Amino acid sequence: MSAFWAATKNHELQYLHCENCDSAVDVALHRFCQRCSHDAVEARVASGRGTVYSYTVVRQSYHPFFRNHAPYAVAYIDLEEGPRIMSNVIGVDDPLTDISIGMAVEVVWEDHEELSIPLFKPAT
Ligand SMILES: [Zn+2]
Repeated sequence: MSAFWAATKNHELQYLHCENCDSAVDVALHRFCQRCSHDAVEARVASGRGTVYSYTVVRQSYHPFFRNHAPYAVAYIDLEEGPRIMSNVIGVDDPLTDISIGMAVEVVWEDHEELSIPLFKPAT
């Protein structure tokens, strides 16, 4: 299991930060900074606050697990530290009308045995 997913067990949303140019590295899977190609990246824990960059609402799914969840929103979230991650926005009555671009969201954890899934809900 990657360090990113191992950290979710402690409800830590990790991202990588470049020590060379002092910027966030996009998503926790890269080994090099996309801005300066430096490899001096270290894992940091994000606050869990961010905004919706873009989203789409899935109305139908043929997958037996997701079928019961539709409609649900798949969104790119810009974390306040800089990285953009893909997740779901939950905690709204109707994802078709209650989610908007730029909306402030915060992380909420869905716990599983081995790891926790970071989801996002409207910020309080
Ligand atoms: Zn860099």
